[in-house]
Amino acid sequence: EEVKSLNFIEHIIEEDLENGYKTEELRFRFPPEPNGYLHIGHASSICLNFGLGLRYNAPVNLRFDDTNPAKEEEEYVEAIKKDVEWLGFEWDTERYASDYFQQLYDWAVTLIKQDKAYVDSQSSEEIARQKGTPTEAGRNSPYRNRSVEENLKLFEGMKNGEFGEGEHVLRAKIDMASPNMLMRDPVMYRVLHKAHHRTHTDWCIYPLYDWTHGESDYIEQVSHSLCTLEFLPHRELYDWFLDQLVDSKKLRPKQREFARRNLSHTVVSKRKLLQLVESGVVNGWDDPRMPTISGLRRRGYTAESIRNFTETIGIAKRDNVVDVSLLEFHVREHLNKIAPRVMAVLNPLKVVITNYEDGKEEWLEAENNPGDESAGSRKVPFSREIYIEQEDFREEANRKFFRLKLGGEVRLKNGYIIKAESCTKDSDGNITEVQCTYDHKSKSGSGTEESLRKVKGTLHWVSIPHAIEAEIRIYDRLFTDATPDAHKDKDFMEFVNKDSLNKLIGFLEPSLQNAKIGDRFQFQRLGYFNVDLDSTEDHLIFNRTVTLRDTWAK
Ligand code: ATP
Ligand code: MG
Ligand code: MG
Repeated sequence: EEVKSLNFIEHIIEEDLENGYKTEELRFRFPPEPNGYLHIGHASSICLNFGLGLRYNAPVNLRFDDTNPAKEEEEYVEAIKKDVEWLGFEWDTERYASDYFQQLYDWAVTLIKQDKAYVDSQSSEEIARQKGTPTEAGRNSPYRNRSVEENLKLFEGMKNGEFGEGEHVLRAKIDMASPNMLMRDPVMYRVLHKAHHRTHTDWCIYPLYDWTHGESDYIEQVSHSLCTLEFLPHRELYDWFLDQLVDSKKLRPKQREFARRNLSHTVVSKRKLLQLVESGVVNGWDDPRMPTISGLRRRGYTAESIRNFTETIGIAKRDNVVDVSLLEFHVREHLNKIAPRVMAVLNPLKVVITNYEDGKEEWLEAENNPGDESAGSRKVPFSREIYIEQEDFREEANRKFFRLKLGGEVRLKNGYIIKAESCTKDSDGNITEVQCTYDHKSKSGSGTEESLRKVKGTLHWVSIPHAIEAEIRIYDRLFTDATPDAHKDKDFMEFVNKDSLNKLIGFLEPSLQNAKIGDRFQFQRLGYFNVDLDSTEDHLIFNRTVTLRDTWAK
């Protein structure tokens, strides 16, 4: 068995186990905010947390961090659950930060009673002005010394809807001179007269992230709360809040940080992805060009290929950009193993086999996957008129052109050797038809001497009378720049690739008539394709998942 080295988060846990943690105490969570669909960056966090769950046989909660009713929706909750499941993971319990609103409120009251929180009645602008700078202490709010009684009364009033938005906030009373700006009396609650997707109109005050997250971890007894690096400065506040509340008999959660994963030629931020959706650059969160889990799934990615990708890039301590070609490598590698081979022609050129009887057809044996005998075989029809790709024929070409040229021979995949005798052109000089002859003894698999004869090229093809038509969607990168959101002077939207979707009509072998939504294939010599969600029996639609080779490699 392959021995996998531990990542630095696993090292932290191993050390904790050596220093007294019990394996049964380990518990993790994946905490998405339901304000958009999950993207490939989230896959790293999902694989990390659920991977730890599997390694230590520890429960992993799916916790929705739903404290901002202005941006959160039930649609996102459902999409997130579907994506985590599809990636192949099982959560222990489904939790919502909003389930803890009452407990958080009660704890806030406790903090007020201990004179560790106060109601500030200044505007948010005024509060920001008093914050100071990293090198200069902030100023205390004139409301900082309100009496406990007055704070309790005002906070209750906030909860009961007696005040408008922005009139008061609840702040922790910590240290306006702390070198960590986040410790300068952070806001814990604000008034928001908005209905929440779960608690509806029960609350008109909502807790902020820092106040909610660690306390939710504590309630769920999460041992290791793993988040991305931007939360490193928040750790001190995470710990401060816990210090005020933790009961020594209970497990105290730890926040630890790892690097965000960015992918080249795209953006991985729900806010920016929402902008792509709302501006109509893409046709929704699951557009096959999107780096969302749902977009990748629709594009034909397998869950296994995404898991393998996250495994390969691993867990890092520094933010960086991973080249999208690595993601493509992993889907190509997996589809190579599992996708049946079929024939399709996307840029057709008619070939007439002049010595093949008109009206005759035969069904040739075709292997479904040369690397997997158990995949079996199917029959493909052959007849006098076939399509090949335009680029597979030239009137004249040098010796390195291993395709069809006048006077030259190629083998038709699963079929016969043909020789190009002549061609026809239209008035613009475009080749419209090629006339060939075939060697009737050369049929693949027939065992004759001619069937074993080696010719330089093998072409894919489809029989014209049997071919079925399908819409083929060819995708290119969504952005022309490798790091569209890393430019100081330019908005990422300026780098949108206007040519990221091309639709064409392809001609497919008839076995594909029965392909179901989501089915994946290798169109031989062309790439991996799957049946799109919009496909119907009368109008088949295929997405190109990825090309056969990395055409972007230098
Ligand atoms: P976004 O900017 O896309 O909204 P977020 O961090 O605000 O990202 P959350 O829903 O809060 O999104 O993320 C859930 C979990 O996934 C968090 O623990 C977060 O740190 C992690 N995560 C989000 N984006 C990435 C990423 N690009 N790489 C690794 N982990 C990520
Ligand atoms: Mg977040
Ligand atoms: Mg966010």
